[in-house]
Amino acid sequence: MCGASTCRWRLDPGQTPEHITEVLAQCVRLSGLRASYVEMICTRGQPPWGSRDPRQAVNQFYAFAVPYVWLANAEQRENGLHLQISDVQRIPPSSVDPTAKNYHWNDMTMGLLGALDSGFDSAVLVDAAGHVVEGPGFNVFCVHQGAIVTPDVGMLEGITRRTVIEMAQSLGLPLQCRALPASELREADEVFISSSGGGVLPVTRVDGRPLGDGRPGPITRQLVASYWAWHADPALSRPIDYAA
Ligand SMILES: *Cc1c(COP(=O)(O)O)cnc(C)c1O
Repeated sequence: MCGASTCRWRLDPGQTPEHITEVLAQCVRLSGLRASYVEMICTRGQPPWGSRDPRQAVNQFYAFAVPYVWLANAEQRENGLHLQISDVQRIPPSSVDPTAKNYHWNDMTMGLLGALDSGFDSAVLVDAAGHVVEGPGFNVFCVHQGAIVTPDVGMLEGITRRTVIEMAQSLGLPLQCRALPASELREADEVFISSSGGGVLPVTRVDGRPLGDGRPGPITRQLVASYWAWHADPALSRPIDYAA
């Protein structure tokens, strides 16, 4: 049984979605963590020694719970991240389908290393046409002329990106999914990123240039508040019975 991403990679974790949900809940229960980040990973595994036939590989399933993971530390959440638009081009979708979750990440890692070496907090990568696509583990948004803009192709359709789209609809904020030129990101009024590792996170500088008044913008702050309100909504969350 496989989900959208594992099917795309011809991987089979060998577990039903219901069982995976229960395993992740059990990881949190056993860890005792009250604010936890859970992850599930399916690897290709190995074919028998001497074989190069990936169809013979025995896929493996891993799940774990760790203390909640933040892509931005407390200071960065307060003051905003400083992003670099990397000159590393994202692997083209015809080589590795970015819409299926994967850790085929050397482009991301090299972009991130370059950004960190230059004093930035993280990197966003562009496609062959110079459009911003995504960064290492996050989707990208900007606010331009009152509308929220996020790329529509060349990136993972992250679960948090989907939540941002739904929040924008529910708050009546205009949102466009379309190509996002790097120049538009640099000149945006606001920029923020989305990830399971921290929800909606503010960006206050792109390529060293402060955005707006240099503080996390009003639409970003509205979406951060809304994200955590939705997170606490029992209709959208799954309680853990630590006593069980
Ligand atoms: C995991 C990931 C994201 C964010 O996805 P979420 O489902 O929101 O956590 C974005 N881009 C890439 C490349 C990723 O690997």
